[in-house]
Amino acid sequence: MSGPSFNPAPAPRRKRVVLLGATGSIGENTLRVIAAHRDKLELVAIAARANWEKLAAIARQFDVRHVGVFDDAAFGAARANAAAFPAGTQLVGGLSGLTELAQLPAADIVLVAVVGTTGLEPALAALAAGKDLALASKEILVLAGKFVMAAAKQHGAKLLPVDSEHNAVFQCLEGHPTAGVRRIVLTASGGAFRDWPVEQLAHVTPADALKHPNWAMGPKITVDSATLANKGLELIEAQCLFGLAPAQCTAVLHPQSIVHALVEFADGAMLAQLCPPSMTFPIQHALLHPARAPGVDLALDFTRLVSLDFRPVDEGRFPMLRLARETMAAGGAAPAVYNAANEVAVAAFLAGRVPFLAIPRIVGHTLARVKNTEPSSLAEVLAMDCEARAIATAHFSSAR
Ligand code: MG
Repeated sequence: MSGPSFNPAPAPRRKRVVLLGATGSIGENTLRVIAAHRDKLELVAIAARANWEKLAAIARQFDVRHVGVFDDAAFGAARANAAAFPAGTQLVGGLSGLTELAQLPAADIVLVAVVGTTGLEPALAALAAGKDLALASKEILVLAGKFVMAAAKQHGAKLLPVDSEHNAVFQCLEGHPTAGVRRIVLTASGGAFRDWPVEQLAHVTPADALKHPNWAMGPKITVDSATLANKGLELIEAQCLFGLAPAQCTAVLHPQSIVHALVEFADGAMLAQLCPPSMTFPIQHALLHPARAPGVDLALDFTRLVSLDFRPVDEGRFPMLRLARETMAAGGAAPAVYNAANEVAVAAFLAGRVPFLAIPRIVGHTLARVKNTEPSSLAEVLAMDCEARAIATAHFSSAR
């Protein structure tokens, strides 16, 4: 039957997204997801550390009117080139600018993908404003897990993990009470050196460490994948995110990066989440949750998939994983210290100042030196972060 339609169903309102960290690899993949689902997602604000030219291009492409630039000099350059942005763009700068965007009244969900601790305040601000928070920055939960979880609970906001392993655990756990979980298993590709003879690891160069077998990512996280510090940080993060005991959070080597995590229940049954190693899958899951829609990248093809291998992690080869386990058992501010010392050590390695095997030595030394306490405020966590950085830096500077 045709004829004039009255009372047409209103188009469902699009989810309005704030993307902090728009120019990095998570940001780029997020833009691919949003571009593919413009009927469901609307980008309302973007921010980055310094690349204002790229921000301007994104703002024009997605018609975004709220733009943040963290770095002072880059913010100045962006303001001097305001004509590069769409007419009427509001430019904000510094940490206060990013925090303002995280609380934008016209936003439903904030994706935090800025590197390091910069995302911490904006993430807490987003939760305080009742926004859903999609988390891609590991440091936020590693440093301030208990504050972030408390804020989400207090303000009734959803926390959606974007990291592929945590997103996988989240998907496996949906509809299952945590009380029935025996353990979770995060998979690790093993990074660039999983098959190298251990004695050769002493001679690894930054260029060697930056060749990741499966994922294309920034230099810091690629080195973290080679040492398995990335998995260590993820175990710490998972413990906090899913409210588990340290012993319930485990890792297994899985070279293909197809299974991202498994959840084992009390009866021994396991659920796994599988998808190709592209960040568009977890990003789309987090942004559209609880809805599903066709993916941006090709799904798995079982006519081509050869095999899925799993093997235990050798902590002798990967001491950063052993240190992470000790860090989780110690609790308090130890995770923040582990993270800070690792950041210092990786930066020194990438700058050619320390050998690859110095990374776990610097982190172990720093963990042993910083007096561990239970931080009662974010300021205390950040103070311990600073102290750990100073101790780690002094250690390798004096060892030279
Ligand atoms: Mg990961």
